Amino acid sequence: MTFREMNIEDLETTLKTDKDVGITETEARKRQKEQGFNELQAGEKQSVILLFFAQFKDFMVIVLLAATLISGLLGEYIDAIAIIAIILMNGLLGFYQERRAEKSLDALKEMAAPQIYVLRDGEWRKIPSREAVVGDIIKFISGDRIGADVRLIEAYSLEIEESALTGESVPSIKQSESLHFPAEGIGDEENMAFMGTMVSRGSGIGIIVGTGMNTAMGKIADLLQSAETQDTPLQLRLEQLGKILITTALFLTLIVVVTGILQGNPLYTMFLAGVSLAVAAIPEGLPAIVTVALSLGVQRMIKKNAIVRKLPAVETLGCASVICSDKTGTMTQNKMTVTHLWSGGHTWQVTGTGYAPSGEFYYGERAVQPKGNKTLFQLLTFGMLCNNSELILKKDRFTLNGDPTEGAMLVAAMKAGLNRENVVEQFTIVKEFPFDSTRKMMSVIVKDNQGKHFVVAKGAPDVMISHSSSILWQERVVRISEYQTQIQEAINGLAQQALRTIAIGYKPIPSGTVLLHESEAESDLIYFGLHGMIDPPRPEVKEAVREAREAGIKTVMITGDHVATAKAIAGQLGILRGKERVLEGKELAEMTVDQLEDIVEDVAVFARVSPEHKLKIVRALQNNGHIVAMTGDGVNDAPAIKAADIGISMGITGTDVAKEASSLILLDDNFATIKAAIKEGRNIYENIRKFIRYLLASNVGEILVMFFAMVCALPLPLIPIQILWVNLVTDGLPAMALGLDKAENDVMKRDPRDPKEGVFARGLGWKIISRGFLIGISTLIAFIVIYKNNPDNLVYAQTIAFTTLVLAQLIHVFDCRSERSIFSRNPFGNKYLVAAVISSLVLLLVVIYYPPLQVIFHTVPIASRDWLLVIGMASIPTFLLAGSILIRKTR
Ligand code: ATP
Repeated sequence: MTFREMNIEDLETTLKTDKDVGITETEARKRQKEQGFNELQAGEKQSVILLFFAQFKDFMVIVLLAATLISGLLGEYIDAIAIIAIILMNGLLGFYQERRAEKSLDALKEMAAPQIYVLRDGEWRKIPSREAVVGDIIKFISGDRIGADVRLIEAYSLEIEESALTGESVPSIKQSESLHFPAEGIGDEENMAFMGTMVSRGSGIGIIVGTGMNTAMGKIADLLQSAETQDTPLQLRLEQLGKILITTALFLTLIVVVTGILQGNPLYTMFLAGVSLAVAAIPEGLPAIVTVALSLGVQRMIKKNAIVRKLPAVETLGCASVICSDKTGTMTQNKMTVTHLWSGGHTWQVTGTGYAPSGEFYYGERAVQPKGNKTLFQLLTFGMLCNNSELILKKDRFTLNGDPTEGAMLVAAMKAGLNRENVVEQFTIVKEFPFDSTRKMMSVIVKDNQGKHFVVAKGAPDVMISHSSSILWQERVVRISEYQTQIQEAINGLAQQALRTIAIGYKPIPSGTVLLHESEAESDLIYFGLHGMIDPPRPEVKEAVREAREAGIKTVMITGDHVATAKAIAGQLGILRGKERVLEGKELAEMTVDQLEDIVEDVAVFARVSPEHKLKIVRALQNNGHIVAMTGDGVNDAPAIKAADIGISMGITGTDVAKEASSLILLDDNFATIKAAIKEGRNIYENIRKFIRYLLASNVGEILVMFFAMVCALPLPLIPIQILWVNLVTDGLPAMALGLDKAENDVMKRDPRDPKEGVFARGLGWKIISRGFLIGISTLIAFIVIYKNNPDNLVYAQTIAFTTLVLAQLIHVFDCRSERSIFSRNPFGNKYLVAAVISSLVLLLVVIYYPPLQVIFHTVPIASRDWLLVIGMASIPTFLLAGSILIRKTR
């Protein structure tokens, strides 16, 4: 018998499980050992050894290795070995950087890995999907991705989109009965749900029958293994730029070599010097360091509760000019408490905070017993019936399982002495039409003890009016049209106090009638009353909105909630100011994107919108030239999240679908985290600019010193091994330390960056050329002064040039910490940089003063009076320009 044919008992016996308690944790661990992890095997990864050798596949490195080999064969053993050692060390550095980048990307993937709800030891637990085993009972709701292959045992309005397997994007309707006809394909498997498919509506419970590679998805997994690492725009731009830089470096090197030879230098020496120069000058390590900087930044973001799913988003974050954010849960705490109840012109108040079910009911000043008031008690009972939340007492604390709006209604009912057990004894839920943000309501069909059926519905109060034909007004059912004004006043009255409002309605079902569709259940209702609940703003949001505004970023609130509630909260948070206005979903629905473009700049709040409208908002803002960050949590939010420049999903309340569509996940669902991520995004980009500037200016300096020397008919100021050493030491640690720099304090006071700006924008190109030129010139001057003084001691003059070049670069690195000037922040504020510079200095001294290394690097000790010259010349490039900026400012 196949799983689809079995009934529940057969399934339980075959899979050794129990639908009510699941399997035990011990059993789960045992099964996991036998069955392996519930994951699709990833494709072959590049092996560590291959990655290491890949560091040497660069053309110039191969030429250098070949040249070194020749010099070794010619008897220059020490030089050959030293050069090979340096190339190896350089390779190791590149290897380390790439491994690190790869590892942190893997760690990221792991953090964003899907979770699944399983029943173990009688309790629902959320576990990483990879730990699920055959026999686990799992549950899922709309927006979830199914974590394994399951046979359904319960299905409520369940529809699953199986395009990942079938290509068919229309969702299949699912059910939980046994089926006795043969299935012709996945589409016929009505009582099965498959790994990787997506719940587009309703909810369900199932028993896992296959995990990992033993799933329908596992069988086609080979087809799906596409690499998902994307290069960021900057990486792509650097790649293009790299080609130009290589050509330029090679061209200049060629001139150096040719002039050198024409000046009478030996062919072989010039060849080796040329190749070393090319290796040093080509910024082959740049892409790897950019990846490291990006991934280190990404790790800092994790500490601030933001997970980046797509690396390009890190860069785009720094360009964001509008943040469109949901209200509930992102700007507010999503900890709801019912404070007001209204029905038939009467308002009651409820005391108590949080989810603890204790509080008093008041009618005006007078305390009332809800049990003594039929209307109030009924309103609370209905609120409990049309409700899926659960209150759990854990370690003396009440926690909520489920939707906070429903939780608030449950707690209010419990404050009146109602409890689930009693209600379940009297009423049975026969069918449920689940909530969705577009309908803005949900309903249940209930059977009471006498076998009578009725509908209980709840939803947005204004929406519920259009689904009701009558109203219960002081225990009489009358036409709703007679009390329209009173209802609107009641709704507005609550909403203006920033309360979230939910209306309750009901209707009896005549016996013998079967209501199959929600449109039948949710029409012709009797409007019963309102629940008004507070959902306080998160305390940090107001400040975050202000900081974003200072950073040139506008905050827009998008909410399904009532206009008046949205307005009140937006006002409290400083989102709605001056001439900014609120636009309602109804108006939005009638507008074209073009029309919206004309007014969207003035809109700060979109209220009563459906998720489908969000896409229009994104498009209109984008057409106006904005870079848009858009949050969302539900299935219907996915298109807008995808279309936004930065799609953001919620870590706690977000559905799998929204998470998969997003490039950033907020672990704490908090608006303030978006602001923190943007700040970090800006900082990462600035750090990348810092080391691009440092590396390229250093390279320009290295090339120019050689170039000028050859043009001036001087001997070689640096020998190949020295050039390679400079490249290794200065390009390595200090450049990486720049990638760890903290943000400048005005990073959130500047306007967003233009995403189209080139690598050298905002004066970076000029800085590189001018600093590089000065480094080259001052090194050369130091060399000439010493050489002219004592032309017989070329080795000494070369040592001076070598030291001046290294020192000039190590001083210049501090200047790179700020785009303004070296004096605009404490130059020693980055401890990694200080450590990197100190260790480079120590290495420099060792090379000059340690006799065995002197032999290898062809250096000699420097006399103390010449140190003055070295330090003076090395300081010029940085301080000359810093001084000129200072003078320009004070003038
Ligand atoms: P946001 O879009 O900021 O998250 P929201 O929670 O108000 O705000 P939706 O979840 O789309 O947005 O809800 C829209 C409206 O539907 C709410 O304002 C509320 O009146 C009603 N509503 C919310 N949750 C439920 C529910 N569980 N049952 C019935 N109605 C609900």
